[in-house]
Amino acid sequence: METKVYEINPESIEKDELKAPAEVLKNGGTVAFPTETVYGLGANALDEKAVKKIFEAKGRPSDNPLIVHISKIEEIDPLVEEIPENAKKIMEKFWPGPITIILKRSHRIPDVITAGLDTVAIRMPSHPIANKLIEMSGVPVAAPSANLSGKPSPTKAEHVIHDLKGKVDVIISGGSCEVGLESTVVDATGSIPMILRPGGVTKEHLEEIFEKVEVDQAIEEGGMDLIPKSPGMKYTHYSPKAEVVIIAGAVEKVVEEINQLKKEKEKLGLRVGIMCTDETKKSYKEGVVISMGSRKDVATIANSLFATLRQFDEKEVDIIYAESIEQKLLGHAVMNRMIKAAGHHVIKIGR
Ligand code: AMP
Ligand code: MG
Repeated sequence: METKVYEINPESIEKDELKAPAEVLKNGGTVAFPTETVYGLGANALDEKAVKKIFEAKGRPSDNPLIVHISKIEEIDPLVEEIPENAKKIMEKFWPGPITIILKRSHRIPDVITAGLDTVAIRMPSHPIANKLIEMSGVPVAAPSANLSGKPSPTKAEHVIHDLKGKVDVIISGGSCEVGLESTVVDATGSIPMILRPGGVTKEHLEEIFEKVEVDQAIEEGGMDLIPKSPGMKYTHYSPKAEVVIIAGAVEKVVEEINQLKKEKEKLGLRVGIMCTDETKKSYKEGVVISMGSRKDVATIANSLFATLRQFDEKEVDIIYAESIEQKLLGHAVMNRMIKAAGHHVIKIGR
């Protein structure tokens, strides 16, 4: 399949530039586009055949439901049965933005979107290209991350081109994604909102408007053996080619341990990658050492986590040792993705 790539500057979108991709969406094709979280691979959410193309292009398991994206609040009405008070509060405070809300689905939503669940995930993105494209297409847009299933989510157009060129109709190249992690998924069907996937809108943010916010225990430390409420959370994700191991504990001890492990592995002839932070980078003498960002500003780590994992693929390392970061605020979402990338392989030091 021939994939058309359009370069669009999100800061100065000419209306005509999005006309062709919007037509492709309307007519049942697939379009990858930037959002403020990660790049998404979109198709008309009400067209079952179009949605199936997404699963095919990504190699996504059919029991992993998709998020439906809208450009204006009114567009939600035909998609859901009701909008409870909790959902309204989240929409008012955080939309457009990096949070997805789970609601009771309407009969209009095809089963292929929800994997047979009686709920549907809805988000209104703030990225100007995403927002305008959805509006111009005139349809709700189903869009999971625009990567091959299992690989790190794409935060730059080059990642999408690498994974999906030849498999989709259009790729819009529109710069890098601001948040860099997928949206927070929150279930608003019950009396207390529950986070099913941590993301750009944190638990602390939600606690500004709710007295109580729950987190699905299956995604918390020690919840590995529980079945997650969000079906996608059970899959291996974000995996670069190399094995990833997280070293957790006090920072100085972590650095010491990684240097020791590196020595041991290199003796065995393996190529070692080290995923560190700006503050610790100088503590690693040589080798493939890449910083994820600064511990003083976890947003920088969120922003480059997936790109960093992809960089290690290019360097062809055999094993990656990653420093853990503090699991608070956005660090919760970062560690959630890192732990998945590591297939839960975490070595804890000094505890
Ligand atoms: P992605 O679009 O690739 O970031 O994945 C979408 C995420 O939303 C996956 O983890 C899905 O399991 C989750 N999701 C989508 N629809 C639902 C739903 N109805 N209930 C719970 N989780 C959902
Ligand atoms: Mg994904």
